[in-house]
This record gives sequence, structure tokens and C-alpha cells, in this order.
Amino acid sequence: MAEQKITPMDTPVEIAGAGPAGLTAAIQLAQAGCKVIVHERHKEVGHRFGRDFQGLENWTTEEDVLSLFRSQGLTTDFVTGPCHKVTVFDYKDQMYELHTDEPLFYLVERGPGAGSLDSALLRQAIGLGVDVRFNSRLREMKGEGILAAGPGAADAIAVGYHFDTDMEDGYWAICDDNLAPQGYAYLLVMKGRGTVKTCMFSGFKQEKMYVQRTLDAFERLVGLTMKNPHAHGGTGNFLLPRSAYSGLHPLVGEHAGFQDTLWGFGMRLAIGSGRLAARSLVTHENYDKLWKRELKPQLEASVVNRVLYSLCGNRGYRRVLSMLVNRPDIRSSLRRQYQMSLSKRLAKPWAVRRYTSKRKDVSCDHVDCHCIWCRGECCEMD
Ligand SMILES: Cc1cc2nc3c(=O)[nH]c(=O)nc-3n(C[C@H](O)[C@H](O)[C@H](O)COP(=O)(O)OP(=O)(O)OC[C@H]3O[C@@H](n4cnc5c(N)ncnc54)[C@H](O)[C@@H]3O)c2cc1C
Repeated sequence: MAEQKITPMDTPVEIAGAGPAGLTAAIQLAQAGCKVIVHERHKEVGHRFGRDFQGLENWTTEEDVLSLFRSQGLTTDFVTGPCHKVTVFDYKDQMYELHTDEPLFYLVERGPGAGSLDSALLRQAIGLGVDVRFNSRLREMKGEGILAAGPGAADAIAVGYHFDTDMEDGYWAICDDNLAPQGYAYLLVMKGRGTVKTCMFSGFKQEKMYVQRTLDAFERLVGLTMKNPHAHGGTGNFLLPRSAYSGLHPLVGEHAGFQDTLWGFGMRLAIGSGRLAARSLVTHENYDKLWKRELKPQLEASVVNRVLYSLCGNRGYRRVLSMLVNRPDIRSSLRRQYQMSLSKRLAKPWAVRRYTSKRKDVSCDHVDCHCIWCRGECCEMD
């Protein structure tokens, strides 16, 4: 069906959403000579993130993510903090220092700030002649287009604060169900600013308690100090869709449910799927075939990883950390974890059956509830 589509170069392709997925698709379409209109329902890019710090993961490919972006024609003109060391604590406060020669991830800023990833993609898109329309919420797509409107529901939440600080730059995490059920808490500091969050896969209703425990733990363990703290949180939507088309329109990024189900590192999947959707419109290849070939193995592996991780409990996290800390090359160890090995292939049917969307999480009854999950912004397209 999609293979027969033709993109007339004089008819603009419409894109709903100016996140990394939508802007990447716009950039690649414009580079191929298409006219593109991006609709963004907010007044600026990255509105839901404020000035959040996020990690652009650098372990799923051997090639460095930034050089990969450059080779794919994408800008890297944004501020990055290469991470060569993460300090992780377990529930007994034992410390594990994970060192890597090549960056494990690059810290990037999200939101409308000048040095952010979103602003860099926006600058590149506008430079290529893309018509980006802010305060423009697309409700219906009539012609050729891509749906890139972000998460439509919440399977995980990350809640905490942005702040200014005198702390030295650094990256810390805690694996402890008492403060981040089935997830992890993290503290990221770069150039006098920081983000502290608990990333939870369950127990959303007790969000405030877990945030407070996270703050207490980082104060105790690494001397967290915050100035001008701003509360911030958001949702993540994980899905392994059968098809990532809505009618004839490709769905990209979190609108398709493309996410790292293990830890929520969704930016690269958003950018990767945006690139593939643009390619499918230009070359008339079937988008489902493209993402299933390039992204599905990693998505499936992350579902298996998530199910195993959620069964670990605090003692299991401790064992995983003890093993990881002794690995000579943590980046390649993680890369292997995100590949569909034989054991993962065997475990997949069990994991897929077991992984149920947290939309059904009984720990939140949604009644009179104001947790991030229930406040979660929906993409409002469907
Ligand atoms: C707190 C938090 C921390 C995270 N940390 C990390 C991390 O460290 N590393 C990582 O890789 N990932 C992280 N993620 C996930 C990552 O942010 C997302 O996977 C990524 O932003 C998805 O990109 P996207 O383009 O699909 O969607 P989004 O970035 O959500 O962009 C979608 C855009 O569409 C717009 N929109 C919605 N509806 C419409 C409409 N009808 N018309 C027009 N526009 C519309 C929205 O306003 C939004 O700007 C985190 C997420 C959260 C919430």
C-alpha cells in the first residue's frame, strides 16, 4: 500500500510535532528537495522539557552517535557533555564507578534554549527552508504527512527538579526500588545547572514520596545542593506496534511508541524513526519494513531487558552492577544487551506476554489523582 505512494515535490509534506522525530523527518525531506510544513502546537520547541538535561545514548552502535548524525546529514551544533564516568549506588549505598573510554552518552539540553538539541534541529530545518508553524495544533492530516506528536499515554514517569548549583559536573544514578520502583534515580550536573529525577515504572501515585526519597539520597550520597529548583516531570510511552502507520501516515518517535523500554532513552529512536519515515516518503519504500529492519531488534531486546530488570529487585540490581563494574568495556557490554541474541530470541515470546503497558498499573486508580501520569500530556491527535 505505502509502496505505491508518490510524493509530488510541489505539494508540501505536513508533519505534526516539532520534537526530535518530527524535525529530523523535516530535515531529511527538505534535503531530498521536498517542501515541508511542521506544525507545533506549542509556542516553542521542546516545551514539555523546559531546560531538562537528557542523555543521548552512545552504546547501541559502535560508531559514535554524533559522527553517525553528521554522516546522516543531521546537525550536531548543540552543547554536549560527553560522559566517561557514571557513579551508581545500590540500595545499600554501595558505590560502583563505571568508566568508559568512549562516551557512554552525551548529556544534551532539551527545550527552547540556544544550545539545546531541539533548537539545533530547528535551526537546521529552517535553514533548509522548512516552514515551522508554532501554536499550530494539527487535528487532521489530509495529504502526505508524518505524525510525530510525542507520547500518547504514559508507561513510565520521570519526576524531580531542574536547578542551578555550585556542584562539580558529574553523572550519578541510584538503583533502588525504595526511591525509583523498577527504574532508577539520576542526578546530572553540567556547567552550574542540574537535573534530578526519579524514573519510575510503577507506584506512580506515590510520586511525591519517591521524589523526596531521591533528593534525600543524593544529598546524603553526593552532597546534592539545589538553587532555584523548578519542579519538572514527564511521561514515556513504550510500545512495540504491529504497524507504525496510521492510515497512510507514518508514525514516528514516541507517537509510534518507539522507546527504549528498559531505561527510557528514546531520543535516538525518535531521530532514527524520523529519518526512516522521511526516506519512505522519498523512495516509496514501505516504512514498516524499514523500521522493522533497523529498529525492531533493539526495541524487542529492550522489552526483554525491561522484563528481566523489573524482576531483579534490589538484590538483583546489586548483582548486575557488580558484574558491570568489572567489565573491561561497558559500552560494548551494553550494546550486546540491546541486540537480539539467541537467548533473547528464546525469551521474547515470554517477555512480550509479560510486558503489559503500565496504563493498566493497579498502583494508580486514576481517581482524584494528580500524579505526572494522570497529568500527562496526550498528543491530542487521535
Ligand atoms: C523527564 C524525561 C526524561 C527523559 N530522558 C531521556 C534521556 O535521558 N535520554 C533519552 O534518549 N530520552 C529521554 N527521554 C525520552 C525522550 O525525551 C523522548 O523519547 C523524545 O523526546 C521523543 O521525541 P518525539 O519527537 O517522538 O516526541 P516529543 O519530543 O514529545 O515531541 C513531540 C512534539 O509534538 C508536539 N505536538 C503534540 N501534538 C501535536 C499536534 N496535534 N500538532 C502539532 N504538534 C503537536 C508536542 O508539543 C511536541 O513538541 C526522557 C523523557 C522524559 C519525559
